[in-house]
Amino acid sequence: MLCPQNGRVGLEVPLKTVKNFLTGRALVRLNPASPHYLCQDPACPVVYYGEEGVYTLGEVRFPIYDKGASLVCYCFDWTREGLVEALGQGVDPVAQVEEGVRAKRAISRASGRRSKASSIQRKALRLRTPGASKRGAAR
Ligand SMILES: [Zn+2]
Repeated sequence: MLCPQNGRVGLEVPLKTVKNFLTGRALVRLNPASPHYLCQDPACPVVYYGEEGVYTLGEVRFPIYDKGASLVCYCFDWTREGLVEALGQGVDPVAQVEEGVRAKRAISRASGRRSKASSIQRKALRLRTPGASKRGAAR
């Protein structure tokens, strides 16, 4: 299904994710029987959408990474800047997240340890790559 606002292809997201993120007022409109999608365009105000309509940035409880929020993991307050700093100091954010989830400290238990850690890892890699290539070019 395409985003009704900008017509781009969205990413299908599990119902539990939508339920986690929507405010109480927005939840009233949720149709749990139909699939939901995330619009990943940072310029589009629509976050989630489904057959019943759209949910905008004002209707979610947490900052959305795809919408330009710096917060990468809202369980442990990992920001983009924090990840870069940790990687620079040789700290492994993935190991820390894994440890936190194992200790049942994560609020998004539903996403599971492996998927959560791998999503952090993907973001960390994305952050690490431009810096690494810049350093490489300077030498
Ligand atoms: Zn959109």
